[in-house]
Amino acid sequence: MSAPVKRPQARQIHRDDMARLYAEGKYCETRRPRTCRRAVTVLTCRWWWSTAAARVVVTEHLVCSGHGRELARRHGIEIGPPPDVPSLRPRPRGAEGGPQ
Ligand SMILES: [Zn+2]
Repeated sequence: MSAPVKRPQARQIHRDDMARLYAEGKYCETRRPRTCRRAVTVLTCRWWWSTAAARVVVTEHLVCSGHGRELARRHGIEIGPPPDVPSLRPRPRGAEGGPQ
């Protein structure tokens, strides 16, 4: 079992990252209750204690502004401003995911 260890964070992503993700055909990673197909504008980070790994792991998700706002509201956090420079590296397929 995994358990959340601290409050999630959310911030907007850089315009260049947005453009690249859009060009790559990436969409909001929200899958529940149904797959969301809106453009990515927010990066969310959630921390978990992983018993299997015996350490805290972080899962990052790229979501649309609607789902970003929803998460922020649910956890009582603010969506932070985008970084000054593009900060997202292309990630290998299957790197995302983890506990929800
Ligand atoms: Zn979405």
